Amino acid sequence: MQITPQLLPEMIEAIDQAISANAEEVTALDQEIGDGDHVYNLQRGIEALKSQEQDFAALDWVAAWQKIGMTMMSKIGGASGSLYGSLFVTMSKAAKDRQMDLSVFANAFAEGVESIKKRGRADVGEKTMLDVWVPVVECLQDAASEGLSESELLDKINEVAEAGVEATRDMVAKKGRASFLGERTIGHIDAGAKTAQLMIAAVCSVVGKQL
Ligand code: ADP
Ligand code: MG
Repeated sequence: MQITPQLLPEMIEAIDQAISANAEEVTALDQEIGDGDHVYNLQRGIEALKSQEQDFAALDWVAAWQKIGMTMMSKIGGASGSLYGSLFVTMSKAAKDRQMDLSVFANAFAEGVESIKKRGRADVGEKTMLDVWVPVVECLQDAASEGLSESELLDKINEVAEAGVEATRDMVAKKGRASFLGERTIGHIDAGAKTAQLMIAAVCSVVGKQL
């Protein structure tokens, strides 16, 4: 299976649809324990990505991720803008001069998620998007040794991402605006974890169609 940047327009459109379809629900979550702007921030970034999607399709992954990261950093705003910016810029750096395959991708993605941890001074268990991104990275890194088929891997990624969202429900927020509410955040899902899962599911569905 060859996953090339030519799929980026379709991936970006799928992400746009998934976020739009769930915008009200996620904004309601974000209003409970955040300031309610997360979906709006993300949609601003997605609009900017859509306007460049044909340019991305003509690039290699290293160049495409760099451009995507810069766009997200400048257009999303909020905490999530700089976090997603560093995810993609770091992935671009990590994959430089490598022949792209699953293990190079898994490694670049792992370094990208590490950069979210560093920039946000956060880790799993603190009720953020990391509660989705970290287990998904681990899932990809394990894929080679577990010998899963491509479709089994996609299913597993989706399962792990959904479990990550659900796990945030019982956590006390330790990072971001929600942390100001402390124990009152228990019982609510983190909006940034939910949008991470929606984006992952959208990308997996586009990749799945290539199998
Ligand atoms: P802001 O918090 O600046 O309003 P957004 O609303 O766009 O930014 O994004 C909020 C989301 O960002 C949260 O739901 C959480 O998932 C994630 N987040 C916030 N702070 C951090 C952090 N320090 N590390 C990782 N993720 C974080
Ligand atoms: Mg916010």
